[in-house]
Amino acid sequence: MNRVDVLGVGFDPVDLDGAVGSIVALARDPGPHLVVTANVEMVMQARLAPDLREILHRAALVVADGVGVVWGARQLGRSLPGRVPGIDLAGRLCDEALRRGWRVCLVGGAPGVADAAAANLRLRHPGIDVRRALPGYFGPEDDPAVVRAVRDAAPTLLLAGLGSPRQERWLHRHLASLGAPVAIGVGGTLDVWAGRARRAPRIMRTLGLEWCYRLIRQPGRLGRQMAIPRFMAAVWLDRWRPRPR
Ligand code: UDP
Repeated sequence: MNRVDVLGVGFDPVDLDGAVGSIVALARDPGPHLVVTANVEMVMQARLAPDLREILHRAALVVADGVGVVWGARQLGRSLPGRVPGIDLAGRLCDEALRRGWRVCLVGGAPGVADAAAANLRLRHPGIDVRRALPGYFGPEDDPAVVRAVRDAAPTLLLAGLGSPRQERWLHRHLASLGAPVAIGVGGTLDVWAGRARRAPRIMRTLGLEWCYRLIRQPGRLGRQMAIPRFMAAVWLDRWRPRPR
């Protein structure tokens, strides 16, 4: 499937169902496959960071995490079938994990968050095989121990909520050693599953205003969210850029 270019980042043209289907197919072989849910912040970061561009380029699947990317594609005369919010994708993959007997491993969040997220997953999906839950605040010196703990758990699906783009860099660097056929960065999903953070109300999500809710809850995100107007400006510049005939 041809990727849809949005300011230099290629997105797979899939909606939520399509993304789940692709990942089910990816999980059939040992991989390892990296799946990235990329929003406008990541697109803007990738413009300045060649290593991140390369990670996105080599990822098995890159989905549009948010209305901004879908809007950008449309402005550029391209089309993406819809947004694929990381937290929704992760939730749907847990349904598949239960149905297909996948082993799941969670890494991320403050101490206790991954454990609480795992406990709630087991309540919500009785019978799900969550093998390990590991905290996400560790330095490079701890990488070998964390990688070994994941590999020993032999997960089919690794969900890493280490903040983006740290989680994508970390997963890419250790992908071959982690032993998981599919690894995905899930941002703040584990905080929500653990009950430590809330998602925006449904109406705001439907209107594509999740970013606004997060800004109200965490005003410290303002700097990061300046990526949104910069993204819009870059899309319009790209749209009106004279092209060779
Ligand atoms: N996080 C982590 N280790 C770090 C930095 C962040 O485990 O070194 C966790 C943080 O506790 C939160 C998650 O990463 O659970 C998402 O962070 P952020 O809000 O920055 O990510 P986003 O959802 O925007 O990708």
